[in-house]
Amino acid sequence: MSELNLKYKDPLNIDEILNNIKNQKTLKDINDFIKSVYPDWIMYFLNEYSNDYIHMQQNWHAAAKNYNIKPTQILIVEYLNNDEEHKLISTFAELFTLCGFIVRSQQQIQPCSKCMRAIPTKNYFDILKENIKIEMEWQPSCYNC
Ligand SMILES: [Zn+2]
Repeated sequence: MSELNLKYKDPLNIDEILNNIKNQKTLKDINDFIKSVYPDWIMYFLNEYSNDYIHMQQNWHAAAKNYNIKPTQILIVEYLNNDEEHKLISTFAELFTLCGFIVRSQQQIQPCSKCMRAIPTKNYFDILKENIKIEMEWQPSCYNC
């Protein structure tokens, strides 16, 4: 079991925390509340995907449109897991998703080292490459940055 898997395992007082989050009124309140529970979980808010990965941007906007939600930002978090032992972080991610965010883990998405647009990590890029045809090589910034 990885360190992050343990770090974000549901705490014993999960019901109390879930009850509490219902009382948070604004996105900033939710943000502050989550930071009080897991200070490191929220890592970056990015405005868009790099132009090199235009299909990711399009998928996000299409998904938001499907749910009648205005796309806002890409939220990168330290860890995501949808299993039975990580219901709290899944709920946090869901709250942001309902507000138009696309929530991705740092294992999948990172900011371009120059312009802070979202790009896949090397690991995720290699997984993507197995499934779709990508001509370029991975680099830690956009092609034109
Ligand atoms: Zn860039």
